[in-house]
Amino acid sequence: MTTEVAHAPAENPWDNAIEQLDAVAGKMRIDPGMRDVLRHCKREFTVNFPVKMDDGSTRVFTGYRVHHNEARGPVKGGLRYSLNVSIDEVRALSMWMTWKCAVAGLPFGGAKGGVIVDPATLSVHELERLTRRFAAEISIIIGPDEDVPAPDMGTDAQVMAWFMDTYSMLHGHSTPASVTGKPVSIGGSSGRFEATGRGVLFVTQEACRARGVSLDGATVAVQGFGNVGSIAARLLSEAGAKVVALSDATGGIYDPDGLGDIAALLARPRERGLIPRERPGRSITNGALLELPVDILIPAALEGQIHGGNAARVQAPMIIEAANGPTTPEADRILAAKGTYVVPDIVANAGGVIVSYFEWVQDLQSFFWEEQEVNLRLERIIKRAFGEVAEIYDREHGTMREAAYMLAVGRVVEATEVRGIFP
Ligand code: GLU
Repeated sequence: MTTEVAHAPAENPWDNAIEQLDAVAGKMRIDPGMRDVLRHCKREFTVNFPVKMDDGSTRVFTGYRVHHNEARGPVKGGLRYSLNVSIDEVRALSMWMTWKCAVAGLPFGGAKGGVIVDPATLSVHELERLTRRFAAEISIIIGPDEDVPAPDMGTDAQVMAWFMDTYSMLHGHSTPASVTGKPVSIGGSSGRFEATGRGVLFVTQEACRARGVSLDGATVAVQGFGNVGSIAARLLSEAGAKVVALSDATGGIYDPDGLGDIAALLARPRERGLIPRERPGRSITNGALLELPVDILIPAALEGQIHGGNAARVQAPMIIEAANGPTTPEADRILAAKGTYVVPDIVANAGGVIVSYFEWVQDLQSFFWEEQEVNLRLERIIKRAFGEVAEIYDREHGTMREAAYMLAVGRVVEATEVRGIFP
């Protein structure tokens, strides 16, 4: 057993995010002043705040909320609870949110936040107090018209409920549109819980179509068994793919003949986050999972997992980036040179923020949709985004990431130019 996935990425994600932007900004001949705007986060907020622990002691935690760019609308992005959280990680994730919202055509800019904490070490009461205090600390830059947080790694619908309640208490009235990914009972959207994984399914279907690959029977390895990886694995297997490998932070399982019923695997009682060891199938490390001879590789864990040190050994001809930033720029070059088709994160995992957008719209209107309508609209938007990126890819002969960036960056530049520079 190894724990590579849980380790901080060796490379600085912010450096990688800037490098990805620079690569297309040069190609697109973006004006140096405009490029400088895009290379900076507009607003960076750090908070150090005390939390009363169950044993009576007081602990100080550090959290961040970063707004990268708001040219296209209020900023949007998740809140991450993890020991890997750092200002540079949050910066990178906020920039990726800007591109993700733009590529999907959502009227949002990009943001991200996080607290340096391992949520598994907190009691539920400590988690609630930490969330409420963090929400109060950053509430001055949050709001339905300003910045709308959502779940990310280490946070869930319950955390969003506490966040929404805290924001509402501070403002004296219920404000469901202040946060997305909430429970349906308080203004969450049907379909939001599964949205990122469902988006991964739709994107994988489109990628298979574009490459002339049949999804039926295609072998799939999924790294990461959180909300995104587990749901994507289940939906892909229901769509006919053969999921042969899965992993969580402690390691994974591999069976070349397929892992069988993923829904049943998911439903089984598991020790906190662990894939059941008694499951027939070979155990595998997270590193080895990435190098399996599969048709489709889906990194759905942390950033920086496919890097200069292992990219040459990645055998899958197609990678669908369900995680944010799983492939470093160096790995991208190695993969491009050997013809690997990489569908970038800002397209592949956009399903979550697309349905967050629906949730925000429903909250603002106090008018809620059936899940079927949510899923249909998600399918339409994410497939449209894929199609627009694929068109640029076919024309430009670069990578799918470059194509997605050209679309996204172009839209943000256009919004910035038409708005003009204040004053
Ligand atoms: N945390 C998710 C992401 O990285 C969703 C963000 C949102 O819904 O605002 O895309």
